Amino acid sequence: MSETSPSALTVLQEHELVLQQEVRRFADEQIRPLVHDADQQAKLPEEALKALFEMGLMGVEIPEELGGAGMEFFSAALVIEELARVDPAVAVVADVQNTLINNILLLKGNDAQKKEWCPRLAENTVGAFALSEADAGSDAFALKARAVADGDDYKISGNKMWITNGIEAGLYIVFANIDPDAGYKGITAFLVPRDAAGLTIGKKEDKLGIRASSTVELILEDVRVPRSAIIGEPGKGYKIAIEALNEGRIGIGAQMVGLAQGALDAAVSYAKERKQFGRSISEFQGVQFALAEMAIEVEAARLMVYNACRLRDGGKPFVQQAAMAKWFTAEVAERTASRAVDLFGGYGFSKDYPVEKFYRDAKIGKIYEGTAFMQLNTVAKNLLK
Ligand SMILES: Cc1cc2nc3c(=O)[nH]c(=O)nc-3n(C[C@H](O)[C@H](O)[C@H](O)COP(=O)(O)OP(=O)(O)OC[C@H]3O[C@@H](n4cnc5c(N)ncnc54)[C@H](O)[C@@H]3O)c2cc1C
Repeated sequence: MSETSPSALTVLQEHELVLQQEVRRFADEQIRPLVHDADQQAKLPEEALKALFEMGLMGVEIPEELGGAGMEFFSAALVIEELARVDPAVAVVADVQNTLINNILLLKGNDAQKKEWCPRLAENTVGAFALSEADAGSDAFALKARAVADGDDYKISGNKMWITNGIEAGLYIVFANIDPDAGYKGITAFLVPRDAAGLTIGKKEDKLGIRASSTVELILEDVRVPRSAIIGEPGKGYKIAIEALNEGRIGIGAQMVGLAQGALDAAVSYAKERKQFGRSISEFQGVQFALAEMAIEVEAARLMVYNACRLRDGGKPFVQQAAMAKWFTAEVAERTASRAVDLFGGYGFSKDYPVEKFYRDAKIGKIYEGTAFMQLNTVAKNLLK
């Protein structure tokens, strides 16, 4: 999509339009050439990560005095959308950093924690969010990781699973229980640096999609951290996790919108180029209607994400809109990518064209940061309360 989409023109403010254009150009020029090999090798290219930091895309909401870009949550969502239009795997690296890690520090960290970590997160340090475990997914608060007080320190032990950015991270926000008898009210969030003794990276997942984004097991064996590593209050980690994921979901919505737009753009270009029966396939009304339906759905999905962002930035209730946006955008991403593959015919099935990757990448939208069913649970609960 070289033109600004109509929804962007009606909804975005001037500085947001500038950001959108800059990130679009950056993604096209610096990320696009790396996408195919990064996916095949299942490895985030170092130059991509370096460029994300240099562009200021890893500290979008971090205040300028702490080294960040000092923008709003909506800006972070625009960044994620534009990155995902080119590579949803690169987008999720920036998504976890901005909407989970930076967000938790900014909203729940104390001054010392912000001063220590925010400048690094904006400049060169990747963050990872370590909540899930083998037996604690949708039921995340069934987590078994334990943190035991030991003098002025805590010793954390447990195995975390599915940790995005796990390989590249220099900082992990780890959720562990300090008082299992208190159930989920014992869950506490800890800042754990990569070089903490006893922290190791386990199995790296070999995934269907977003392959360049690392997803790993994190093993913690008596990892000693000072009491000052606790974010917020002891026993309030469950609240931190819920609140971060409520916002993070909007980021995943933005990732799905970007993905869908990328697939649609590719399908439009291809339909104009590809000739059958002596003319461009874009001249067939069946193809035109397919493209039109795809565009309508992407537009609706985008507006849901933008609306959730505006509500969040405006300090209004947004949890229902975030859950709806995450659910709907994941549907739209999967459907749009699938139809793009159809429109490419046999070439859509080949790794020489981008749509088969979008199709694989789309599936994650219904899984992480709350499955599609968990979003429906939230929406239904809010409707019926
Ligand atoms: C690529 C990838 C990256 C990830 N990154 C991170 C990360 O950075 N940090 C992190 O902490 N976690 C991460 N996760 C974990 C992710 O959040 C979980 O996979 C997700 O929450 C689902 O948990 P689960 O896989 O255990 O599935 P389960 O919870 O076992 O779900 C299995 C099925 O049961 C359904 N189900 C479960 N409970 C209910 C219910 N109450 N009602 C209706 N249906 C239900 C689910 O919808 C699903 O269809 C990642 C996962 C993946 C695949």
